Amino acid sequence: MANERARTGGSTDTTAIPHWYDPDSSVPTIVEGEDATVFDDSGTAYLDFQSQLYCVNAGHSNEAIVEAMTEQARRIPYVSSAKHNDTRSALAGRLGEIAPGSLSDVYFAISGSEANETAAQIARVVKDAPKVLTRWQSYHGGTAGAGSLTGDPDTRATLERHAATTGAGKFLPPLPECFDADSPEDLAEQAADHVEFVIRNEGADSVAAILMEPIAGTSGAYTAPPGYFERLREICDEYDVLLISDEVIAGFGRCGEWFGIDTEGVDPDMITFAKGVTSAYVPLAGVVVDEGIGETVRADSFDLGQTFAGHPVGCAAGLAAIEEYEGGLIDNVAEVGPHLESRLRDLEDEYDVVDTVRGRGLLWSVVFADSESGEPLFDPLGTEEGENPVAAVRSAAQEQGTLFGAGRPDVQVIVSPPLCVTEAEIDEAVDALSAGIEETFGG
Ligand code: PMP
Repeated sequence: MANERARTGGSTDTTAIPHWYDPDSSVPTIVEGEDATVFDDSGTAYLDFQSQLYCVNAGHSNEAIVEAMTEQARRIPYVSSAKHNDTRSALAGRLGEIAPGSLSDVYFAISGSEANETAAQIARVVKDAPKVLTRWQSYHGGTAGAGSLTGDPDTRATLERHAATTGAGKFLPPLPECFDADSPEDLAEQAADHVEFVIRNEGADSVAAILMEPIAGTSGAYTAPPGYFERLREICDEYDVLLISDEVIAGFGRCGEWFGIDTEGVDPDMITFAKGVTSAYVPLAGVVVDEGIGETVRADSFDLGQTFAGHPVGCAAGLAAIEEYEGGLIDNVAEVGPHLESRLRDLEDEYDVVDTVRGRGLLWSVVFADSESGEPLFDPLGTEEGENPVAAVRSAAQEQGTLFGAGRPDVQVIVSPPLCVTEAEIDEAVDALSAGIEETFGG
């Protein structure tokens, strides 16, 4: 809202831009888009390798989605979320078809934060237990409830400035720096054992669920080592704890399959979704739950709901977007994803400051570190704003015509183009990133 006020009247004041925009970059005013390209108010084109906020999966100005939204708005734009609507039911049915395992019942929300809060609430009701455990280095939303699930220190610091959040327990992510493991399999085992340790120490009876991104989003596109999720599924079953997969970024083809967890070969008890469900053409989110959970919730006096949850125009956009994903966009991830991966891995070989490249499908992080010590180049908790060389890399890449994302902590460049991206666009974007690295660190 504040952002919008600054823009009205043609002001170029960017003081109202959220802090997670690079403070030292000029933030373009985006006015138009087509496929993987956006245009600013002076007509300059940029390749959108952030899909805005990792959400415009079907690309900009997709006619089929716009048509579906328009048709719905003409027929009936809004129907109470406490009544039935044909478009909403149709989308719920489609989501049940594409969701893993026996997930079938859908509870709609508006944003990813609310979807995660809804999932946490459902878990508490179903298990009659208060705690939902999450990972450090995670992002699950910025509202008070979802923010307490988030493990990113910036979000927590903001939320906890004046009041403690509800204190959801946290465990370590399966990252090599968190454990002393000698192989990916060993890392998976140690990291899963650690989750078991945390559940036991929190008191298994008090833990309703563990909630995780199958592939981290803004925390840096890290994936789980092989066997990690399988072991977690066993631990959840053993301690009667629900496993919830936050698919807000990883879902809807972003990582090569419908949902990020599909690649891990386990069925979660719930998934949460937002962003890509409508390709961000209109806000829509929700939770898909196992049918047994759905029955328990229906039998309970569970009384939560939001006016705009499952908005029919959003549901129409969702149905059309899913058709686009199924009609070729997910196949395109399989086709161009390996090219993006190999171009990014070349950066690892080419530049000493590129420490790691990690991700899957069309969600990647290029992590920077001091070439000698291996330490992060920027201490996000300690350094003055504006001194971050990783932000300078992104600014320089933007000058070259490509927009990339910032990670949390901001020691990385997040690469996440729309699913319609071409190999030629990938080449152009990675060349822009190389130019940004050379301009910042020298060739
Ligand atoms: N979960 C994940 C994994 C996210 O990345 C985000 C937002 N980036 C959210 C939840 C919160 O979604 P929203 O911003 O729509 O509330």
